[in-house]
Amino acid sequence: MDPGPARFVVDAMLGRLARWLRLLGHDTLYDPSADDRELARCAAATGRILLTRDRGLLARRLVTRAVLVEHDDLGGQLRQVAATCGLALDSARCFTRCPACNAETIDATREAVSGRVPPYVLRTQERFRNCPGCGRVYWAGTHRDAALRRLARLLGGP
Ligand SMILES: [Zn+2]
Repeated sequence: MDPGPARFVVDAMLGRLARWLRLLGHDTLYDPSADDRELARCAAATGRILLTRDRGLLARRLVTRAVLVEHDDLGGQLRQVAATCGLALDSARCFTRCPACNAETIDATREAVSGRVPPYVLRTQERFRNCPGCGRVYWAGTHRDAALRRLARLLGGP
């Protein structure tokens, strides 16, 4: 059975990495207020891979699937996690998840997002996605293209 895309929980040091993993379509929990014990418990209870910069966290008894993230820069972090966990840039899966809160976004009609996006965007875009978690609205456009290019570049490495 296909286990589906890898799911993660990241420590407080890795908030930026969490956003980009979500953009790639990976279910990624990030709660900067969670302590080591809570992170370890969460990973064990939900079958997530724990990403951490903290060697001490890896030594916890509950932690079985974890990656010690060795890089300070986002590109290095993404490449390490991609190589270790077998992630790839899948454009069909990108942008299916809210980078801000991790909820899966859902298709929304123009009427549904009217008043929640700039008028120009409402006039020129046809497809929208709505986040049921935090209420943000997303649409295809220059931001998305730029993010995809950046992801390809980051994953491609120097
Ligand atoms: Zn959201």
